Amino acid sequence: MTTTPMAPLVPSFVQNSWWTPSDPDGGTSVLDANTGEPLATVNSDGLDLAAVVEYGRTVGQRELGKLSLHERALKLKELAQFLNERREELYEISYRTGATKIDSMVDIDGGIGVLFTFSSKGRRELPNSNVILDGPMEVLSRDGSFAGEHIYTRIPGVAAQINAFNFPVWGMLEKFAPAFIAGVPTIAKPATPTGYVAEAMVRLMVESGILPAGSIQLISGSARTLLDVLDYRDMLSFTGSASTASALKSHKNVIDGGVRFTAETDSLNAAILGPDAVTGTPEFEAFVKAVTTEMTSKAGQKCTAIRRNIVPAALVDDVVKAVGERLDARVVIGDPRAEGVTMGALASLEQLRDVRGAVEEMIAAGGEIAYGTLDAPVVRTMGGEEKTVDAGAFMSPLILTWDDVENQAVHSREAFGPVSSVIGYTDLDDAIHLAAMGAGSLVATVCTNDADTARILTTGIASHHGRVHMLNRETARSSTGHGSPVPHLVHGGPGRAGGGEELGGIRSVKHHMQRTAIQGSPNMLTAVTGVWHTGADRVIAGDPEFGAVAGAIHPFRKSLAELKIGDAYASPLRKVSLEEITAFANETGDTFYAHTDRAAAEANPFFPGIVAHGYLLVSWAAGLFVQPAPGPVLANYGLENLRFITPVPDGDSIRVTLTAKKITPRVTDEYGEVAWDAVINNQDGEIVATYDVLTLVEKEDTTYAN
Ligand code: NDP
Repeated sequence: MTTTPMAPLVPSFVQNSWWTPSDPDGGTSVLDANTGEPLATVNSDGLDLAAVVEYGRTVGQRELGKLSLHERALKLKELAQFLNERREELYEISYRTGATKIDSMVDIDGGIGVLFTFSSKGRRELPNSNVILDGPMEVLSRDGSFAGEHIYTRIPGVAAQINAFNFPVWGMLEKFAPAFIAGVPTIAKPATPTGYVAEAMVRLMVESGILPAGSIQLISGSARTLLDVLDYRDMLSFTGSASTASALKSHKNVIDGGVRFTAETDSLNAAILGPDAVTGTPEFEAFVKAVTTEMTSKAGQKCTAIRRNIVPAALVDDVVKAVGERLDARVVIGDPRAEGVTMGALASLEQLRDVRGAVEEMIAAGGEIAYGTLDAPVVRTMGGEEKTVDAGAFMSPLILTWDDVENQAVHSREAFGPVSSVIGYTDLDDAIHLAAMGAGSLVATVCTNDADTARILTTGIASHHGRVHMLNRETARSSTGHGSPVPHLVHGGPGRAGGGEELGGIRSVKHHMQRTAIQGSPNMLTAVTGVWHTGADRVIAGDPEFGAVAGAIHPFRKSLAELKIGDAYASPLRKVSLEEITAFANETGDTFYAHTDRAAAEANPFFPGIVAHGYLLVSWAAGLFVQPAPGPVLANYGLENLRFITPVPDGDSIRVTLTAKKITPRVTDEYGEVAWDAVINNQDGEIVATYDVLTLVEKEDTTYAN
């Protein structure tokens, strides 16, 4: 990067409009990674970061707060569909970063995929409200009038996100998606060398018109003082180098000001080859394939790439040879726009210098190049010519080997490019020890077809890693790969990897929320959470002996427009006879002795004698609460948390009480989900069984009205 005013300026998007500095001179010039030609200038001089943050905290919070978790999740799907149609224009821009088509797909399609996944998980796993319950209610008084529980609500500030250069789209969207669902406005700050790709993506996001004002702001250029204007209401998620993470973590606003800080930094990820996975096995082949993929995908500029291959000492030469042969056969270095190129340039000339410098340091420390060269490689140019070029940031893949496998340099010096080391271990304990020398990593692969080896290695290294990927012949074809974080699973790792946690499904939405313990009466807990709590008021229809209100309508006759949490139905008592138990046993074949053999049942410490089947009780309960005529209840789609508590011998009676507990209208359908709290009691009021009945109920009653 050099200073030049020539190239077009990459704008920021702040306070709902595009912004460039008033002084057109200055800024940092960004070059095409393949040709070295100036592409763009990035300059944030004069940008009022305090105003950007304030806009997020006010307008962004307000506009996002008008929507529920489900409504925001649905918007992510609409956005993903919009962006999906426009990927080609992003690929064109992405080539300039040195990314091949496949690299760009990992970044762009991968980023859009994160939006789809979070949209669907958000609507399936979260309530359609803005309060998320965390765990069950804890009763804190003898009479049940005082209780407590935990809730999540969104943080009141902004989600500031400082991203790395290697995945300008995925890196931004994987942070944006969970923040957006949580209802927290994003301020994205991409890395300067590839920020123009992030800007192109934000431009499309804005053009879509799908996002509420303040959902996303973009800072193109440096944001060195961003932390100065953040406080305890905000969070900062960082991806990049360990040294920047350390500088940010030590900022007074993190230490004293309470800014929530999470980091995902470079780490020395390992792949361990099991002793069983010798040459010729499917595991050896899968391992070699994984290593070459991780070295060459994105030219090795992945925080998850395999830096250390820890293999049985006797297999070091075999692994180096096999990986080298595969690299020879598969890798064509060059301009990603040229036909047949499989590995592009590094993202910038600075990056090339850094990687070469790191390799030189590793060699000085004892590493030896076993494959590849530090000389400029022959590359395929855009015109299809094969030659060495001065301008682009191209580099040959390199394999290093080490005589001393404990050499600190192999475990701590990261060359953030197509560079990987192969080191030998003596036994599984040694392999675990070597993997742990990375001092905390994002991911490790354990490659073995031996279940014991997989267990020993995985449990041995798990606490040093954020993710462990087990590879064998069963997963060789289906695995999403060592280096690909998936939105469903945690991305991040301890120690050197930054100590942060991203993704991991709904966990990452909760990272943008505060967990608060709340205490009060069941009525107040119900009012705050929108979920009916045992002990709270209800309007009961049905049996007056159980407190039913005269004239109250059975809740199964109510559409979502009429149904309220706390609407309940109490059935009359129903007597249980031995004949019915015997008939159920014979009909179903469930002739377990507790239902058929009085002497054996009486000898069982849990039963007073012959007892009704639990499933018979649940079936009777359905018969007791059903409203058979067509109505707004469309279907019963399951039971949750079923527990049988008190046995029911013949001669006892049961009743069921059903209370509308949680109502979740679906944003995309004409119906919603209702969870009913179901309790079966006996004639003495003892609890026989508890469970939740899950139903689908129309928003407006169409069937019953006919
Ligand atoms: P940096 O840590 O220098 O930069 C990462 C991001 O932080 C960029 O957006 C950068 O902005 C920003 N930044 C840097 N300093 C500050 C600061 N003081 N205040 C606020 N923001 C700041 O990493 P690089 O991109 O230069 O990459 C260097 C190394 O980091 C790589 O060689 C690799 O080892 C590692 N890395 C790790 C990644 C991961 O995913 N964990 C990804 C990429 C790199 P700007 O660009 O404007 O300076």
